[in-house]
Amino acid sequence: MQKKLALHWQILLGMVLGVLFALALSYFEWGSKFITDWIKPFGNIFINALKLIAVPLILASLIKGVSDLKDISSLSKMGFKTILTYLVTTVIAVSIGLTVVNVFQPGKSITEETREELIESYGGDVETKKQAAQAQKDQGPLQPLEDLVPDNIFGAATDNGNMLQVIFFAIFFGIALILIPEEQAIHVKNFFDGFNEVILKMIDLIMLTAPYGVFALLAALVVEAPSTDLFVALFYYSICVVGGLLLMIVFYTLMVWFTTKKSPSEFIKGISPAQLLAFSTSSSAATLPVTMERVEDHLHVDPKVSSFVLPIGATINMDGTSLYQAVAAVFIAQAFGMDLSFAAQIGIIGTATLASIGSAAVPGAGIVMLVIVLGQAGIPEAGLALIFAVDRPLDMFRTSVNVTGDAAVAMFVNKTTSVNQKDKAT
Ligand code: ASP
Repeated sequence: MQKKLALHWQILLGMVLGVLFALALSYFEWGSKFITDWIKPFGNIFINALKLIAVPLILASLIKGVSDLKDISSLSKMGFKTILTYLVTTVIAVSIGLTVVNVFQPGKSITEETREELIESYGGDVETKKQAAQAQKDQGPLQPLEDLVPDNIFGAATDNGNMLQVIFFAIFFGIALILIPEEQAIHVKNFFDGFNEVILKMIDLIMLTAPYGVFALLAALVVEAPSTDLFVALFYYSICVVGGLLLMIVFYTLMVWFTTKKSPSEFIKGISPAQLLAFSTSSSAATLPVTMERVEDHLHVDPKVSSFVLPIGATINMDGTSLYQAVAAVFIAQAFGMDLSFAAQIGIIGTATLASIGSAAVPGAGIVMLVIVLGQAGIPEAGLALIFAVDRPLDMFRTSVNVTGDAAVAMFVNKTTSVNQKDKAT
């Protein structure tokens, strides 16, 4: 029986073949033009498809996520603690990401020439982008708050820069849904459940084309930005993401150690099968059953706690994703020659936290939601094309961190929640 190559291998193969194909064709005079005219558009279509899915994805997954919280009214104390801990770990993750990328500045190694070539080849001229960023910097202190509330939801949904307004609408909608009587809410909930499934399927289908997408993107990258400094920068960028993720793992082991007295090796040994599955599937949702089993049977968390904390975590707690989004946003800004102000970086903490909450637990969701972080910080979205080439391997690493974070918080909540003690006693 013929076995199909796993998607992540297909994508890696697509990357390698894209580079080789472009290198081979650049020996011919017509080679570069051929790639720009006939190959690159497929890369752009792929990126567009990812961007296309962002607004419906936020609407569906956030409305579903918020309204699902209704089932936990009896456990509201545990719910509050869980969500607060998830938020705190996410903010820590983004801060680690920002620190690493600011210290190592992987995007700065890109020369002015490559930078300009990149901006031209991926749309938009340098000046317009820089002016937009400047306008962002010159805003009054309460402008971001004012911008959060849209006066027209359709207007917000058609403007990529205003994705936070869509998030605001989705959370507001979800809360209102909790507050109306169950018999009326159920129809709307069922609709959004189904809607969410359709969106996840769409991402699935888009990801099936990823090997071809990265082939086209890499081929275009090779002929259009032939300078090696771009590849060197991408390498440093990847090291920053992976380094930051490792620091996050260290943080979890310490958190578990201090709060539950489980040693780092016990914790890692207990959770490692889930980490490996997350690594190979790039989906915390797909890993959830194994995460549950490991956390309950091997890390001794009460099923009452884990069955509540882990599914919510798989939906809203994506520390690896938020860390990656922070590094990616600042890296792209550096690559495009933008200096981000301190306030803009603080803004990234907020947007990356929200964007990671809104990311679905499926492969490639993180880069889709990165659009929000970029848009809000005034960083050119064309930068997505720049980092896509290395996104899948980074997705594998960040998903492992996402599930490790969920497990660590489950252990923390299990240890510190009195609801759990009472339940255990009964
Ligand atoms: N693949 C990640 C997850 O499922 C989400 C992301 O793309 O960052 O956890």
